[in-house]
Amino acid sequence: MHPKPRHDAPKDADARRALAPVICYPVETLPQPDLPAYLAARDGWEKVDDLRVPPREAVAFEVPAGHFFRITSVEGPQVGDLNLFSADLSERFYSGKTRALHGSHLSRGDRMWSGFPMLRPMATITEDTLDWYGIDPHGGSVHDVIGTRCDPYTHSLLSEGGQYHHCCHSNLTRALAEARGLPLEEAETLVHDVLNVFMCTGFTRETGQYFMKASPVRPGDYLEFFAEIDLLGVLSACPGGDCSSEHSSDAAACFPLGVEIYRPQGAPEGWAPPAPNRYDRSHGL
Ligand SMILES: [Zn+2]
Repeated sequence: MHPKPRHDAPKDADARRALAPVICYPVETLPQPDLPAYLAARDGWEKVDDLRVPPREAVAFEVPAGHFFRITSVEGPQVGDLNLFSADLSERFYSGKTRALHGSHLSRGDRMWSGFPMLRPMATITEDTLDWYGIDPHGGSVHDVIGTRCDPYTHSLLSEGGQYHHCCHSNLTRALAEARGLPLEEAETLVHDVLNVFMCTGFTRETGQYFMKASPVRPGDYLEFFAEIDLLGVLSACPGGDCSSEHSSDAAACFPLGVEIYRPQGAPEGWAPPAPNRYDRSHGL
């Protein structure tokens, strides 16, 4: 929220405001996933793992390249904060660039991209049972890459030093540390901004503030991914529950989330693991 302007608008203010927006990253040249080939590869697949993420906790899971995984709503409306790493932890999900390429909320056909210098798809979304939701009258939609992850530092800042230990940031940190035998401090530095699975969010038109509202997710809904590389996923069942009121506390009703991993009989036709980015990294020198 900004204070009242101190400067008078110029005479041509309306004309300047009326200019048409230009898409920052036209994605016509972005290599597109062959979704029908991905979907066909699911025929005869085998479920090889089925995990539960307890409320206000996080769980790590491995997904080999070429496998699928689903994040599922199992008992009640619940939002999940997802971190993705390459199995060797050298690559992490890059929420900001994913947002720049695909928009503020992800759905079928969008990719989760890794950071520089690789900048390649880590996972492709192959199914989204909430795709009917679209953009609501408040400008809200589901599965955003605009939020960060609820964390104890912001909570402390906004609550005069309050201490809360089950924010998604801390849940992800504990789960990653345990999964890879890392000291807590080292794991914390690897935790990154998330894909907010099932969360319904947007920005208010009047003030541009980040808002959330009750997630439309219901038991049986899922978001499905194809692993483009060997992945370590870490998923937190957010203390905000369906995020209809508040997070960073134990006040909200919270439910577990499911993670299902599927092994297909063969790779999607024509699929190959994505190559590293082709920039030569000389940076002009
Ligand atoms: Zn959270």
